[in-house]
Amino acid sequence: MDCVFCKILNKQIPSKFVYEDEYCFAINDINPKAKTHILVIPKEHIVSLNEVKDFELVKNLFVAIKNITKEQNIPAFKTHINTGRAAGQEVDHLHIHILAN
Ligand code: AMP
Ligand code: ZN
Repeated sequence: MDCVFCKILNKQIPSKFVYEDEYCFAINDINPKAKTHILVIPKEHIVSLNEVKDFELVKNLFVAIKNITKEQNIPAFKTHINTGRAAGQEVDHLHIHILAN
């Protein structure tokens, strides 16, 4: 599949996972917009929030966010989801941005 995040998951594109669990993985954004800029990405290829059918998946992503920010000692952070091109979504595989300065 021609999806950069699936390719990272399948090790076709090298990238360091900063977190991984059964449902998702996380990487540092290649073009960081804050001192800490992490992307939390479900292992399942889902285009965007508009395509989510089972919201258990979204819950799992937020559990991961809590784990990551706790592990990395980040008490204050923003979370950001772009849904759709017009809203700035560039990669068509659901992901949540974690941003902290
Ligand atoms: P969005 O605009 O919400 O779709 O965000 C996509 C994000 O993925 C952008 O912030 C990009 O900088 C980031 N990105 C694209 N390719 C890579 C990559 N190979 N490794 C890490 N981050 C990437
Ligand atoms: Zn994908």
